[in-house]
Amino acid sequence: MINNLFADIILPLAVRGRFTYRIPDNIADNVRPGVMVTVQFGSHKLYSGIVCRVHNESPDIKNIRPVIKVLDGTSLINESQLKLWLWMSEYYLCSEGEVMKAALPSELSLNNFKPRLETFIEFPRKYSEDELNEILDKLKKAPRQQEILLAYLRLVGYSTGTEILPISKSILLSESHTSAGILDVLIDKGILMSVSQTVSRIAETDSFKEPVKQLSKAQSVAFESIKSQFREKDIVLLHGVTSSGKTEIYIHLIDEQLKKGKQVLYMLPEIALTTQIILRLKRHFGAVTGVYHSRFSDPEKVEIWKRVAENDPLKNYRLILGVRSSLFLPFSNLGLIIVDEEHDGSYKQHDPAPRYHARDSAIMLAAMHNAKTILGSASPSVESYNNTLNGKYGLTELMERFGLIKLPSIVLANTREAYRKKLMVSHFTPELLQAMDIALGKEEQIILFQNRRGFSPYIECPECGWIPKCIQCAVNLTYHKGIGKLVCHYCGYTTGMPSKCDNCHSTGMVTRGFGTEKIEDDIKIIFPSARVARMDQDTTRNKNSFNKLIRAFEERRIDILIGTQMISKGLDFENLTVVGILNADNLLNYPDFRAHERSFQLMEQVSGRAGRRQKQGKVVIQTSDPANKIIRLVLRHDYRGMFRMQSEERMTFNYPPFCRMVKISIKHKDRTQLNYYSDILGRDLKEIFGKRVLGPESPVISQVQLWYIKTILIKIEREKPPAKAKQLIIEAIDRLEKEKGASSLKIAVDVDPY
Ligand code: ADP
Ligand code: ZN
Ligand code: ZN
Repeated sequence: MINNLFADIILPLAVRGRFTYRIPDNIADNVRPGVMVTVQFGSHKLYSGIVCRVHNESPDIKNIRPVIKVLDGTSLINESQLKLWLWMSEYYLCSEGEVMKAALPSELSLNNFKPRLETFIEFPRKYSEDELNEILDKLKKAPRQQEILLAYLRLVGYSTGTEILPISKSILLSESHTSAGILDVLIDKGILMSVSQTVSRIAETDSFKEPVKQLSKAQSVAFESIKSQFREKDIVLLHGVTSSGKTEIYIHLIDEQLKKGKQVLYMLPEIALTTQIILRLKRHFGAVTGVYHSRFSDPEKVEIWKRVAENDPLKNYRLILGVRSSLFLPFSNLGLIIVDEEHDGSYKQHDPAPRYHARDSAIMLAAMHNAKTILGSASPSVESYNNTLNGKYGLTELMERFGLIKLPSIVLANTREAYRKKLMVSHFTPELLQAMDIALGKEEQIILFQNRRGFSPYIECPECGWIPKCIQCAVNLTYHKGIGKLVCHYCGYTTGMPSKCDNCHSTGMVTRGFGTEKIEDDIKIIFPSARVARMDQDTTRNKNSFNKLIRAFEERRIDILIGTQMISKGLDFENLTVVGILNADNLLNYPDFRAHERSFQLMEQVSGRAGRRQKQGKVVIQTSDPANKIIRLVLRHDYRGMFRMQSEERMTFNYPPFCRMVKISIKHKDRTQLNYYSDILGRDLKEIFGKRVLGPESPVISQVQLWYIKTILIKIEREKPPAKAKQLIIEAIDRLEKEKGASSLKIAVDVDPY
């Protein structure tokens, strides 16, 4: 007798849809939504997937395959996670399997999780004081054994009546300067005992708990305003200038939620930022605070996952600080999600699918838990600010810095004029050098921002203008002096520095433009006694490199820190007074409709690092175009001016937030074939969407890793729900995929491209 039970299963495949399998009787009790199972897919492949539904609707297929094995009797994935996965796959037009791959630490590891065991040493039973003195007296003839016992008593902080306390064997041995052999003698004698215990893989920092700080008047007003808006709205935007004390307000909101027994997710756009905030949070909330990001190893991620899922009040995490992937943790009882620096582009995942926006997904996740969301920023995204005007989000403003310190004063340094007058020293204007000189004289610290890593963005033959390019991508190679090589920032291709020009064979290739590495070199020459460090992708490859650099800067072991956008956000340094933005032009000239908004945010953000305590900071912006409208707005810290200008432009030319966008990227290794197929799709879409289809066109980088790229942009009206339009887009792509030869195309859909 075959039962009538079936399971819909999510498999780690890019194919949209769920897969139905028959549930054999002998495992029927264990197959529940959220459980991981093994099934066969295709002729010989086994996969593990997650059960999302159990039912008795016999599917219309012959020979439906059985579930082979249940991998773990307990549900790994809870109902709200499954809901989020489904929503993401529908909204971002990808498969649930792709969401699952992004969500789980790695395919099977949740089941293969092995706790880490460590050996501990303890008393086999409680000794009376007399007994203990007697033992020590026995041991007088074996001074090294006695030393171990004394070290043990020291480490457990023994006083009469202390309970038996285990001490890590390795710590005991290093403290007593003895060997394992001598310890074994004590164990053989029955004086000490060895036990195995599971330990955490996550390094814990000890901290003393402090009560939360008392809010200032302005902060209290903002705090109350957020709470009263939460009575009617689920989402509130906290627009607070840099250093207005937004983080302290979050801490108060977190405190309330934790006291209510709720979980809180605190999201940041960048790993570097977690370093400082985690300490601030642990100081108040202690061991319930956990961090989650991609730098953790898989076993560490699994442990964090379990500590969020489990209900053990001693071990579980109720406050998670994390980057975008922390959305996928197994929360069961969220009360609040904080999305700090909500405007930040790093919240959007570009590749691979799911191409999700973590801020927008966080809002959905919160809704699934009936939780509230707070979005925070000193310069909110045009989208979010617009949502406060149309009433979707509440708005709370905090326009003064904590301690009533003034926002930094901004100086524009005209590079064009300085070059003409021959006043530039390398890439530095007299204005910037002077400000740095004064700061160094007062032992204050400096940050220099340049949004390019490496030494120079390209090298060139001075005779004929030849520029070395990547052999796989349509981009110039960046010169990295430290390793003496040319590197492609898109595919990682690396080659030696050519000694002569490929084209005209003349020698003496020259470097052009400048990246962080060159700034570092030059600064060391200009300020030989200053301590200089650099923070960018190249100097932060190790797990602890962020911590080390940030700590060194906090402890004033670095005078000048040079970096990319990594140093521009959220960091809070006491003694930092001068910020230099080395080249505002290349931010502003980026060909994207968000380039002006982004430049404003970045400049406002990096400026905000200056002068956060005691005195006003100073920012020097180097630009060849001081009259630029965006730069004028930054000069006045005029967020609303920027918003008005951008939203007018976007309304006129129909860009988000006044429409929705879907971007389709089509790739092929052959340029002619690519043109052929992308034209087919373009024509098809134009028949449906008319003039709202832009392209196909070549993007700025038209080839990456040998794949030629074309993009098509579709604008969808904001007023209607987008599901219908998205369905039509998917159908058009399906039609293209059925064309002869189309299987050699790669097609990617990006909803709300950022
Ligand atoms: P933001 O998040 O808006 O940039 P922060 O919360 O980091 O601002 O606050 C800026 C600085 O002021 C921090 O060093 C913070 O510790 C301090 N600060 C903010 N609010 C208070 C408060 N209520 N009491 C004491 N210090 C505060
Ligand atoms: Zn040449
Ligand atoms: Zn390349």
